[in-house]
Amino acid sequence: MALPLPTSLSPSKVSTFKDCALAFRFSAIDKLPEPPSMPAVKGTTVHKALELLFADDAADRTPDRAAQCLDAALDLAREGEEYQGLQLSEADADAFSADAAVMLERYFGLEDPRRIHPIGTEMMLETHLGSLLVRGIIDRLEEDENGDLVVTDYKTGRAPSAAQEQSRLGGVHFYAFLCERVLGRRPAKVQLMYLGKQPQTITTTPSEQSIRGMEKKVAAIWSAVERSCEHEDFRPKTSALCNWCSFQAYCPAFGGDPDVARALGAAAIPPADTAAG
Ligand code: SF4
Repeated sequence: MALPLPTSLSPSKVSTFKDCALAFRFSAIDKLPEPPSMPAVKGTTVHKALELLFADDAADRTPDRAAQCLDAALDLAREGEEYQGLQLSEADADAFSADAAVMLERYFGLEDPRRIHPIGTEMMLETHLGSLLVRGIIDRLEEDENGDLVVTDYKTGRAPSAAQEQSRLGGVHFYAFLCERVLGRRPAKVQLMYLGKQPQTITTTPSEQSIRGMEKKVAAIWSAVERSCEHEDFRPKTSALCNWCSFQAYCPAFGGDPDVARALGAAAIPPADTAAG
């Protein structure tokens, strides 16, 4: 029996499928719940603080105001299941807040937010590619001094090495593609702003060729997902990423049984959500 197709693709799902088809299946098809991770929750909190900062008037976007935004973002995080699921000790919670504050300090070392003209933050853009719904959330969309669009994606992990740079930039063309499709304008620039150790901004200029290339790549990945679902063939691909994979216990490469994951995922999903992608 064929596996159900996910109903949408996002940049993170595309990259999960490319990294390991079986991890994609566990996440996007079986919908196995994943335990919260400290880096992910911290990243969400820093994103929220920056979102709040950019809701203020340009002149008010100072480091002091950013610290207040972080306090508000931390309060929101503490109310959430993911933060609570981390079960942090008092010392760990203090370290969490301190790390987030350092990321915001690094942010101010990369740009002056008073000079940015945001059009929107945390914008969900969706479009169809054939029957496929393609969607992504843009951290920040702004206009530069020439009135051109710029997409900014904050990254709270470690900056890539020079050798990894191009592969990391591959994903940002997805956002350029979404902008062109949904807003009818191709961004002049897409930038990845790394706020982890060795903070830096990596920039690329989308072109007709890069956007058409991304469109073809997404279509090819979708065809591969369709084939994998039809034949129930999602193979494990071991790599260093296995060390952080939440699904090791169900992965045959580590002695697990994927069918157990399927049953668990089905049990965890309310019936109305089973077709959601
Ligand atoms: S443990 Fe590795 S091979 Fe197995 S599903 Fe996770 S990423 Fe894929």
